[in-house]
Amino acid sequence: MKQTDQIIARLKASDHVLIASHKNPDGDAIGSLLAAGISMTAMGKRATLYNESPIPAVYRFLPRVETIVSRLDGRDDFDAALVLDCGQIDRVGAAALPVVGKTPVVVNIDHHATNTGFGDFQLVDPEACATAEIIYRLVNRMDIAIDADMATALYTGIFTDTGSFRFANTNQAAFAVCDQMVARGADPYTVAKHVYGTYSLGRIKLLNRALDSIEISDNGRLSLMTLTREMFDETGTQPEDVDGMINYARRIRNIKVAVLIQEHSNGRAPGARVKGQGRFHVSLRSDGAVDVSRIASLFGGGGHRNAAGFTVQTDITDIKNGMMELANGL
Ligand code: 5GP
Ligand code: MN
Repeated sequence: MKQTDQIIARLKASDHVLIASHKNPDGDAIGSLLAAGISMTAMGKRATLYNESPIPAVYRFLPRVETIVSRLDGRDDFDAALVLDCGQIDRVGAAALPVVGKTPVVVNIDHHATNTGFGDFQLVDPEACATAEIIYRLVNRMDIAIDADMATALYTGIFTDTGSFRFANTNQAAFAVCDQMVARGADPYTVAKHVYGTYSLGRIKLLNRALDSIEISDNGRLSLMTLTREMFDETGTQPEDVDGMINYARRIRNIKVAVLIQEHSNGRAPGARVKGQGRFHVSLRSDGAVDVSRIASLFGGGGHRNAAGFTVQTDITDIKNGMMELANGL
């Protein structure tokens, strides 16, 4: 039996399915989660939709987004788990990790080139433009009718993960699936209006700081943007407000790799912190010539050829110097 048919058989035999996607979710992580949830409900299953992080404001328009929970409240008796858009299992976050570990059937559905192949079943396709494309194929195979809510979720996943059909992962399926989704009730204008909607004043101020922080390597091939905890505090913004800012660093002429270093809030009071020390999320973007997922893998992260990331606990100067050294090889 083909892997997909085995997965469908196991899902049919399940009563309660946990569906989780990566923390700090993007449009694909949320759209795939919602679409998978709607499909499980259509199959008559109980589904718990989980994401560890708050849902970014721009995605809160999505139908049924309120069904996503950020706590499992001790529940760990799921029959099956669908883990979506996660290259590594720990991307679901620390709270869900042991729960997924206890679940008898774990299905890994993803499109990251660096996917580790975790789980009992894998639907991993690095050629897919988004995890939403793979969910679409699965839903079709299960003969589940796609309603307007699911269409909107899948459309948003593909629309955002392809950077509005601009990034290198934009394939024929991106257009074909989105065409189908519009036919089934997704409204491109509504999605675009929310995804590129209005920004808080704080976000614009944060963008100002982000642009001001840009440094360029001596050879002009690497750009570095830095966002510190202070910048978030002073502008009253959240990590979700950073979405897309790295593209300014990437679009500078002659840049091959853009780096965005973003300091995490670590729960400690500002006075208790050692200045410059902390946990940082590092985002990497390539112009296409360099495979940044390889660089991210060296630091325990992963991603795609043109977009990857990792998290480190370090000193800001060390991570900046480390990234600037990368420029010499470009
Ligand atoms: P971003 O820089 O926007 O956080 O992530 C870019 C891409 O790299 C996304 O596809 C994301 O899933 C992946 N990515 C980011 N951080 C990590 C990480 O820590 N581990 C892995 N495996 N992938 C990551
Ligand atoms: Mn994705």
